[in-house]
Amino acid sequence: MSLLRAVRDVFFFLPRPPENGVRWRLFEFYKRIVGFHRRFNTFWARVYTVVGLILLASLFNTVPFGIIRAGIALGFLIFAELLVVAWYSNLQTRTVDWFRTTLRLMTKKGIEKRPLPPAMKVVAEKMGKDITEVWIMDGLDNAFSLPVWRVVVFGRPLFERLSENALKAVFAHELAHIRGRHNLLQILPWLILWAQLVLWRSLPLQMLVIAGFAFYLLASIPVSWMSELLADRKAASLVGAGAMIEALETLCPNEMRTLTETHPSPSGRIKRLRIGSVPRGLFAIWIAAWLIGSYALVFLTVGS
Ligand SMILES: [Zn+2]
Repeated sequence: MSLLRAVRDVFFFLPRPPENGVRWRLFEFYKRIVGFHRRFNTFWARVYTVVGLILLASLFNTVPFGIIRAGIALGFLIFAELLVVAWYSNLQTRTVDWFRTTLRLMTKKGIEKRPLPPAMKVVAEKMGKDITEVWIMDGLDNAFSLPVWRVVVFGRPLFERLSENALKAVFAHELAHIRGRHNLLQILPWLILWAQLVLWRSLPLQMLVIAGFAFYLLASIPVSWMSELLADRKAASLVGAGAMIEALETLCPNEMRTLTETHPSPSGRIKRLRIGSVPRGLFAIWIAAWLIGSYALVFLTVGS
């Protein structure tokens, strides 16, 4: 597929495996240094790297000149190299997957539109959504929602593997994303980033761009996780926590402990469903505190 190759070529500036370049050797060394962390894995490698970059960028701002400032700049450069390796496979696969899925949605190739099964219709009605069909996509072992078209897309293998109860739970979870307008929550990391960039305004431009990218990556994690927990919560209230737990266990049985930037680990989500979900109000308070706090910091710093 030529478009896919074109997308990959856009990323040509990223170093390619075989993993024998200086960057990868540096990363191996870094992994050994932080390897004491019991749960150190690719996710934490990415998080540590962006946290390192953010700290170094902030420190650079506080040191006026001299050898320490040069040292911090060097540290920043090293962490920027680490960031490339830590995020390499993640960014590449995610971008390629995103383009592949978008392309198929546009061409409607390998997509079957089915009338909504009665069990799901009940869920849609309870959510107050007038939905009549569900899309089944070949070769995708996942489910996602398209908020603009108000459509839930299931991967065919997943759709065939899940029990009726688990299907209802996944459907309810995806509808909860649409109904709760969770895509709008993604504005939050941008607002926080904006405040941070004001604080970092005296950084050299290259540093500002790299640190800003790292900051956005980090700030988007809690927001994405929060929308997942909110959707789980809504789904559990409609179809029961048991069905949602069953769905999560069937969805990715070999990756129960895998954390990603977009989703908490399935085992964590199950634990949350068992002990009862976080009240929505707490999330709202946390968002408000984060937003107000970051802008207050800007006003205090810029004003003084
Ligand atoms: Zn979700």
